[in-house]
Amino acid sequence: MTRRLEDLASPFLGGLIPYAPGKPIEEVEREFGIRNSVKVASNENPLGPSPLAVAALREALTGVHRYPDGGGHALRHALGKHWGVSPEMVVLGNGSNELLELVGRCFLVPGDEAVYAAQSFVVYDMVAQMTGAAKVVIPLRDLTPDLEAMRRAVTSRSKVVFLANPNNPTGTAVPPGAVEAFLEGLPADLVAVLDEAYYEYLAPDRRPDALRLVRGGRRILVLRTFSKIYGLAGLRIGYGIGPADLVALLNRLRAPFNTSSLAQAAATAALQDDTHVASTRAVTEAGRKYLTAQCRALGCGVVPSEANFLLVDVGRPGAAVTEALLRQGVIVRPMGGYGFPNHLRISVGTGPENERCIAALRSVLGG
Ligand SMILES: *Cc1c(COP(=O)(O)O)cnc(C)c1O
Repeated sequence: MTRRLEDLASPFLGGLIPYAPGKPIEEVEREFGIRNSVKVASNENPLGPSPLAVAALREALTGVHRYPDGGGHALRHALGKHWGVSPEMVVLGNGSNELLELVGRCFLVPGDEAVYAAQSFVVYDMVAQMTGAAKVVIPLRDLTPDLEAMRRAVTSRSKVVFLANPNNPTGTAVPPGAVEAFLEGLPADLVAVLDEAYYEYLAPDRRPDALRLVRGGRRILVLRTFSKIYGLAGLRIGYGIGPADLVALLNRLRAPFNTSSLAQAAATAALQDDTHVASTRAVTEAGRKYLTAQCRALGCGVVPSEANFLLVDVGRPGAAVTEALLRQGVIVRPMGGYGFPNHLRISVGTGPENERCIAALRSVLGG
């Protein structure tokens, strides 16, 4: 008897559904024979990378025959200084996605529980699945993670809690005081992961201060990324801030050169580029307002968002609307896989991109 290849694989792999990314522009243009398409599907920065990052990349290019600094010294020190924590409390990841996976591989084994909100970032579910941990999935309340219910769902078997704030794909955020109270109210011996991929899009008075709790020694890993507001999604770099012992555990498992020299150089430069961050926030805020008003004028429901994307109820199957938009060169994300069959997730683009998107949506919906 020959074993089937699937029988050799981890038993947890069978339940893994491959992540469905936004379609690359090149693929859509090839498939539909069109040009000048607009991708508003992956919450990227429509203004591009920070010019400071691009300059740093140019300079770093001639050094790519060398391995990167596996310890990410310069970037970890810059982040430590930026956030008032010691560099030992900072871990770099190949996107914050890798850090989510590391947390799973580090802490979760079959029999453990991972607690997270339904209709949240799909990677939490993938991490639980691949480790064989039990999934404790708590329904949203008013399209927002239900922190009270999540707290009540925690048991002595719960090892990891994942919370995205703002949440993806709803764009909603929990008031900062509630996030902090939730984190403080969790049993102190589990690992709480606060995924703040969209932190920089929050108004200053809507930003939780989880780092205060981290500095106080709580087992919290705050995840941030350079993929979103910093415009470096293609380079794959994110970071986590947590207590030094937690970071040390993650580092044991981390591949020695998980972030490239180019990514480290670009991120270090981008971190200093307040101007680029400020203009991105301004473009996002204006675009969010415009898209919200225009979508509502087309009869769509729009979930109030504090991030750089909108969850839009088009009142009919989102997959078909997505397909029709693709034909017009507008790439959005259907949300059926997240339990929102009639919704699209639309990232905020530049002014002209938003206008293209609305014009295409109007023609598809026949408004
Ligand atoms: C985009 C996103 C991430 C991570 O992106 P990386 O590119 O891997 O850093 C993490 N969490 C949420 C909620 C996101 O939307």
